[in-house]
Amino acid sequence: MKAPFRVPANTRIPLIVETLNRGLRGSRQISSKSKIKSRISSFARVGGDRPPSQRNLVPEFRRCEVALTPYDFVVKNSTFRIVPLTTEIAATARRAAASGAPDHAMVVADSPDGFPCRHCLRWARPGERMILFPYAAIPPGHPYSECGPIFVHADPCERYHATDEFPADFRKGRVMRAYNSNYDMIDAEVVNGSAPEAIIEKLLQKPETAFVDARSVTHGCYTFRIQRL
Ligand SMILES: [Zn+2]
Repeated sequence: MKAPFRVPANTRIPLIVETLNRGLRGSRQISSKSKIKSRISSFARVGGDRPPSQRNLVPEFRRCEVALTPYDFVVKNSTFRIVPLTTEIAATARRAAASGAPDHAMVVADSPDGFPCRHCLRWARPGERMILFPYAAIPPGHPYSECGPIFVHADPCERYHATDEFPADFRKGRVMRAYNSNYDMIDAEVVNGSAPEAIIEKLLQKPETAFVDARSVTHGCYTFRIQRL
């Protein structure tokens, strides 16, 4: 009779963990938990030729499955990326304001939800100094060309870096506008109590959608861009 497959309790299997990480992070095909579990099961079969009901019973493989739960969250948000204002544009605006450019106003935030910084993608706290200046989110030369006022912090701030997550400060009060590669607006939907991620994914499912812009639903001001991964 064949000896049972045994692995000492504290044995680590980095090769399999690394393979799983690469496979899940690098793939855009996997979008649901069931697909991930299916992928995990196929790796788990490396542990032996047990019937399906007995697979994943080796503790080490079960640990792998538990450890992969965080990747499910990453995969769900990996169909798009958030594009904040570039640091170069923010720095240029700060220099222009410092040199007294008439179209770059220095203001002080006086409310907790009226001054969104397009660079760090958070609301300015009351008392923070902001620069208000015009920004052409849709460049000149197109029917939907648009230039409008935006804020950035007057003092250097860290550019928003969680680009696979919708910015927490702007889950309400935004409209999502989808544009094609010629900057024509082809669809728009207000985030009205629903998850913005679902609206973004629906707009990006249209083959002609090149990008989606998040704007203020009340003032219409550009907030940030969303692109496909
Ligand atoms: Zn900022």
